Amino acid sequence: MSAAVVESQDAQESGVREGAFGNARALSCRECGHEVELGPHYACSECFGPLEIAYDFPQVTREEIEAGPRNIWRYKALLPVPTDIETSPNTEPGFTRLLEAKNLAAELGLTRLWVKDDSTNPTNSFKDRVVACALSAARELGSKVFACPSTGNLANAVAAAGARAGMKTVVFIPSNLEQPKQVNSAVFTESLVAVEGNYDDVNKLASEIAGEEDGWAFVNVNVRPYYAEGSKTLGYEIAEQLGWRLPDQIVIPVASGSQLTKVHKAFQELITLGLVEDKPYKVYGAQAAGCSPVSVAYKAGVDAIRPVKPDTIAKSLAIGNPADGIYVLDVCRQTGGAVEDVTDDEVREAIVLLARTEGIFTETAGGTTVGVLKKLVESGQLDPELETVVINTGHGLKTLDAVAGSVGPVATIAPSYAAFAATGLA
Ligand SMILES: *Cc1c(COP(=O)(O)O)cnc(C)c1O
Ligand SMILES: [Zn+2]
Repeated sequence: MSAAVVESQDAQESGVREGAFGNARALSCRECGHEVELGPHYACSECFGPLEIAYDFPQVTREEIEAGPRNIWRYKALLPVPTDIETSPNTEPGFTRLLEAKNLAAELGLTRLWVKDDSTNPTNSFKDRVVACALSAARELGSKVFACPSTGNLANAVAAAGARAGMKTVVFIPSNLEQPKQVNSAVFTESLVAVEGNYDDVNKLASEIAGEEDGWAFVNVNVRPYYAEGSKTLGYEIAEQLGWRLPDQIVIPVASGSQLTKVHKAFQELITLGLVEDKPYKVYGAQAAGCSPVSVAYKAGVDAIRPVKPDTIAKSLAIGNPADGIYVLDVCRQTGGAVEDVTDDEVREAIVLLARTEGIFTETAGGTTVGVLKKLVESGQLDPELETVVINTGHGLKTLDAVAGSVGPVATIAPSYAAFAATGLA
């Protein structure tokens, strides 16, 4: 019997329809390469390493992609989703704007800078991309509940996508989360659970529940391999929007580290498929000093990540024990990039800098990334002459408190011309 026949029999036994995961072939262990059939698995049965999606890609052309919808499904051939993915209700994220940032470039002394602005996704963060892919997997696997442990943005995206798909959602957050992010989840779901503890505590609880309950798809736990692939679309879009070219340098925020490693994976796939020219590029990771386990390991020149207890206003990046931290180190070192961190004050300053130079209001994660870009230029780690992309992953309205104390009315005046003239603004 051929391998293909065995596979389709397995698929029938597990109740998954043919083509449920598109061109994905199997789940493959990142550590030992052991392959298992596509299903709700996330850890290798041989070595407990993380599982990743492996594909048999057909020949894909630029024209086919360009003829697709203006959302992430234009790249469906490169994702673990069925070919009829557009017929199922989802949030249709992606194809966000790539803006040339001439003012910020001038301010920082860069020749050519672009901002990939992912704050305009349906729930205002990049998480809609990963959740859309996780929702497809949950649906194909017949899951009953769509759930997640979250630092905030993921809960917003899961709650909204589940609502649109008509699926029961349960989302877990640390109880000290910013109020706007709590409301942004609670408005979509009856089942927002605030857990007394930090993200790493919430994550542990989710793994426990996933082990106890059948049919729960925790997007970033038991369907994590499918979820993670959604981040690749950021890389595809950047290349396509640059006119099917890769940038020279890219600065990406790091929470679990998944996004950074998948943008790199996307660039590599585009090269392999012949959709962009092969060329060197440097990948840089951005963390907040109050939660910088990957940056600390990078600077120490070690391979192991020592978990930390987060203490930073960049709550969406506050993962003290990042699952993909070691792979971030690999990517940044191999490409000649770096991992850097900035203080909360530098995060606040960078939020205002991006707003006042480019008219883009970012949340603390974007403040971290722009702050790190600035620091990398100033310290000579990033070449100002090379074409650079910086990713803004979330909207400033989600973390208003971060800058509410440092910006506001320049004056409060009586409604008279004399009072206005006295301000010196005339
Ligand atoms: C989740 C998140 C990230 C990065 O996530 P990874 O876990 O590293 O993939 C970056 N920015 C924002 C705003 C996020 O919500
Ligand atoms: Zn393994």
